[in-house]
Amino acid sequence: MAAGHAFMARALRLAERGRWTTDPNPRVGCVLVRDGEIVGEGWHQRAGGPHAERVALAQAGERARGASAFVTLEPCSHHGRTPPCADALISAGVARVVAAMIDPNPRVAGRGLERLREAGIAVEVGLLAEQAAALNPGFIKRQRTGLPFCRVKLAASLDGRTAMASGESRWITSEAARADVQRLRAGASAILTGSGTLLADDPSLNVRLTAEALGLPPGEAVRQPLRVIVDSRLRTPPTARLLGLPGATLIACATDEPARRAALEAAGAQVLVCPAPDPSQDPTKDRTETHVDLSTLFGELARRELNEILIEAGPTLAGAALQAGLVDELILYLAPHLMGDAARGLFRLPGLTQMAERVPLEIHDVRRIGPDLRLTLRPTPR
Ligand code: NAP
Repeated sequence: MAAGHAFMARALRLAERGRWTTDPNPRVGCVLVRDGEIVGEGWHQRAGGPHAERVALAQAGERARGASAFVTLEPCSHHGRTPPCADALISAGVARVVAAMIDPNPRVAGRGLERLREAGIAVEVGLLAEQAAALNPGFIKRQRTGLPFCRVKLAASLDGRTAMASGESRWITSEAARADVQRLRAGASAILTGSGTLLADDPSLNVRLTAEALGLPPGEAVRQPLRVIVDSRLRTPPTARLLGLPGATLIACATDEPARRAALEAAGAQVLVCPAPDPSQDPTKDRTETHVDLSTLFGELARRELNEILIEAGPTLAGAALQAGLVDELILYLAPHLMGDAARGLFRLPGLTQMAERVPLEIHDVRRIGPDLRLTLRPTPR
């Protein structure tokens, strides 16, 4: 079993190499072992390219016969962009398959393993399952729930302040923390902000790391996540900096404004109308309060195969996403200085007035990034 752990750990490390490139596919690694020796290994590099099992089988050649395959995700049994990997393992004569976890897609879960068993291959499942799931939180959540995995990144002073009362906010955290955010961006399928931040900061929301910095082959194009602006009334100016940068921008609005929409589309943006629930049904709201319906937007982002959303917004949108139950993880960078209680907070949470209504969080990781702290937290399931 100990040797099995080591081989699966190797497969997980290989899968990790696809962190920046496999989107919208999962990160998957595979190791083929015969007589205690690795005879082939591979990882999935990009959608449309060969799956990890195929790369490992090609490397092993004839030595795959009688081997054990350690894979971080159940081999596929259906024709997607490439033919089924279960069939490839069967025809290569593999004797045993150890999968860390089954495919999260409820329509295929278990079928790949079933096919292998039917062909007389010994199948085991669950080795280092938690680590394998951590590689693909977005892919797994999207397959299971029809929603993407959502991280909110915020930079704050030690007293939890994200901008001065005037809106001034550059820079709260160190260069090291901002470089760390670049890696969060590089792994995200989309980076989402609100109209408030867009109008205040005119941000770029792009990945500025080179291929080498991400461990990719030198000169390889770095994937730019989709940029999403949540802008109910299409107040984004067509001259916004991010519209002039490589990569696509989607602007989600609540009501169509044909003239503004045409100007933004001419500037390269896609516009999506995400109708808010009918305000006439809610007597507490007047029409001017109509915002983008975040649940509808997130469902649409998942439908477009976006796995991991990184929210980099101000307290209004970050709070709204949290209250809508759409946030899975908070990444909080805390800088060792105080901005005072007149400065703005982290999350706007209207209606929260009693201790019993606090938002409970669990700390998953605490780390020092240069002079700052990075906290990874998850909302406690209620
Ligand atoms: P924000 O949260 O980025 O955007 C808020 C706006 O989003 C709302 O005013 C609303 O305007 C729009 N929106 C659309 N649909 C919504 C929905 N369903 N729920 C809530 N809002 C929705 O802006 P902000 O709160 O004004 O904060 C801006 C400040 O935050 C800036 O000073 C910026 O520098 C700072 N900031 C700090 C950090 C940090 O990590 N420290 C990160 C980002 C920004 P419409 O409905 O009219 O579109």
